[in-house]
Amino acid sequence: MKIKLWGVRGSIPSPGPTTVKYGGNTPCIQAINEEEPGEIIILEAGTGIRELGLSLIKLKPKPRIHILLSHTHWDHIHGLPFFIPIFAAGFDIKIYGPVHYDKKLSEILAGQMDYAYFPVRTAELSSDISYRDLKEERLSVGGLEFQTQYMNHPVMTLGYRITQGGKTFVYTGDNEPYSNFQKEGEILDDENIDEFVEEQNNRVVEFARDCSLLVADSQYTDDEYSAKKGWGHSSIGHAVALATKANVKRLVLFHHEPERTDGQLEGMLASAGQKKEELKNSSLEIFLAREKDEYEI
Ligand SMILES: [Zn+2]
Ligand SMILES: [Zn+2]
Repeated sequence: MKIKLWGVRGSIPSPGPTTVKYGGNTPCIQAINEEEPGEIIILEAGTGIRELGLSLIKLKPKPRIHILLSHTHWDHIHGLPFFIPIFAAGFDIKIYGPVHYDKKLSEILAGQMDYAYFPVRTAELSSDISYRDLKEERLSVGGLEFQTQYMNHPVMTLGYRITQGGKTFVYTGDNEPYSNFQKEGEILDDENIDEFVEEQNNRVVEFARDCSLLVADSQYTDDEYSAKKGWGHSSIGHAVALATKANVKRLVLFHHEPERTDGQLEGMLASAGQKKEELKNSSLEIFLAREKDEYEI
């Protein structure tokens, strides 16, 4: 399996001279299963998916496409109306995402292609699109084994653990560590809540356990995080700590803050290296997510 990054930025696209090195497109990751070239597996439909679509449209025979969403915040779906295979007859596209209890996944995605926002409705698309709501489960997609797990983010969000031949890739999706807000607001009325928080954080560590590559939300510096707590994103310190506890081999810092320049990102990589030293984790390799980079799993 290979992992290719097509979009690495969080929240909103941020093109321009200060972001040209690492890229300004919002999240899109391709998991390439070399054994099944007719199956295309894509995590997230941020704006990075547009260029990936241009490469797929030329393929013959047409591949089957699986798009797995961690959640439906805009930055993870707003490339979908510009993913050219959705307009082409003969493409079989399956979209997976976390179940919502008030709306179906198909309704949420059709909502962003309403006439008020976009000239073509999903009902007018020529490809054959189907939808699959996901909970915490195990499933096989395009010849790869998937496991999903809920993450801590202000909407239903799933992380993905993908395994092939004993090698594993994990993507956290947007997330921040669970914490005890009640205690911090001093209205604690349940003495078991600390235990619950610890259990949930340990579940995330186990989800990432021993993986070869972890692509993790690390939008903030550790200093910024205190003002952004509860917004659903991790700091670089959180990402390095998670990778260390889970015995991860390679960590890719992902979902970059839109305002972060290339130079500032490199400063964050240096801080991540310091954090790694503090945690006495000499074996972890850390990278900044950069558009078009590929990793062998
Ligand atoms: Zn996001
Ligand atoms: Zn989000």
